[in-house]
Amino acid sequence: MHSNRFYQGMTQMLEKQSFFQKVNANFDKASRFTDYPQGLLEQIKVCNSSCHFTFPIKRDDGSIQTIHGWRAEHSHHNLPTKGGLRYSTLVNEDEIMALAALMTYKCAIVDIPFGGAKGGIQLDRNEYSESELERITRRYTYELIQKNYIGPGIDVPAPDFGTSENEMAWILDTYLTMSPDKLDAIACVTGKPIEQNGIQGRREATGRGVAFGLEEVCSHKDDMKQVGLESGLKGKSIVIQGFGNVGYHAAKYLTEAEANIIAIAEIDGAVYNQKGLDVEKVAAYREETGSIRHYPDATFFENPYDSLELECDILVPAALENQLTAENAPRIKARIIGEAANGPTTAKADAILRKRGAMIIPDTYLNAGGVTVSYFEWLRNLSHVGFGRLARRFEESTYNAMFRAVERATGYQFSEKERRTVHGADETDLVNSGLQDTMINAYQEIRDTRSKYGKNRVNNRTAAFITAIHRIARSYMQLGIFP
Ligand code: GLU
Repeated sequence: MHSNRFYQGMTQMLEKQSFFQKVNANFDKASRFTDYPQGLLEQIKVCNSSCHFTFPIKRDDGSIQTIHGWRAEHSHHNLPTKGGLRYSTLVNEDEIMALAALMTYKCAIVDIPFGGAKGGIQLDRNEYSESELERITRRYTYELIQKNYIGPGIDVPAPDFGTSENEMAWILDTYLTMSPDKLDAIACVTGKPIEQNGIQGRREATGRGVAFGLEEVCSHKDDMKQVGLESGLKGKSIVIQGFGNVGYHAAKYLTEAEANIIAIAEIDGAVYNQKGLDVEKVAAYREETGSIRHYPDATFFENPYDSLELECDILVPAALENQLTAENAPRIKARIIGEAANGPTTAKADAILRKRGAMIIPDTYLNAGGVTVSYFEWLRNLSHVGFGRLARRFEESTYNAMFRAVERATGYQFSEKERRTVHGADETDLVNSGLQDTMINAYQEIRDTRSKYGKNRVNNRTAAFITAIHRIARSYMQLGIFP
């Protein structure tokens, strides 16, 4: 009786934890498997600095409004710090610090030499005109410059929930105006439009990374057997929550890998077809009508949360945090949860889902594709040359020479189609290859950590955190601060 009450009290407390406390609870769980000094672990865990800005903007109707914005730099063990900028009504200091911490661990897990950061402005972007959003973004950037929270070697924002290439272009332009002679200034922000020194494949990167990650996860026969599934993505039924940049691209590339998207949930309803949805057609319908509501060729759910409880192989939450909770987790049937969003599963839901035998692929790994390609964009900006520019033609003539030599030696004549499949790698090829390699290697590392500490003691999330802690701790030790 006593212990039961204690347990209830504990779980209630867990659900009441703030987002940042939840991230730290996961960190603490993992840190018990390491023997670093307590002080070092504390240093890794805390948020190194954060800033709350308030500033006025003039609305189109002439009224003045106070805007609240934040930027948190969670870890300075690597510079610059890196992370998105989100526009949402849920933004507050705790959320931004939690997301900045997740960026630190994410970068460490995929071995990208950045510290973590995150920024946010508390607003619903649908309530503002394009020119109001431009004024807000430029003023926010100005605040970042004033407080030394932006720069190619300081802190580099990127798109996140509610922002896109447009906001990144305004940030770049404002920064350039304030630092006209800085050679590397274009690397002050990533996720820029291609014409503004962006990189091919950045827009698609997070969703593509989710697909590469799940492909890797599903390729391990023994893991799949444990959750009662065959290996391979082919034919797997998938439910996607969120049809924004991440959800749409994840659905697109999962379809290309021959998985079956059976449901897509948006804020105003969900569409479901057991035989599989045509992702492009759903996107076109949304483009035309402004919503996925009542998309033909599918059953419509007025309450989008109902679709998360459908019988399926993989559930991909690709929207916001705290979507899988103690309330709905007992009814979720998916065998695999692929966390494309940041922090979509509460601690209590996590425990419920695992107890039922589901496998959770953590956000810190699965949505790292965005920052990975941001890293490539940053490198491209610092080198001032597009990937593939120097080598592509050279590679192509080498391959052609090889083709001719094989033809001469064997008498075989390659068809035009065969010839076309081999070409010098351009920027898109290199970005995708780097992204795929990153997702494969990081998952291998998580699996190795899991088996090193024992599969039954350490799950994927804890293994990912342990991997991150080792990498960050080693980097601090090299600084000579800690013995
Ligand atoms: N906003 C993305 C994330 O949460 C990308 C961050 C970046 O590219 O810096 O991972």
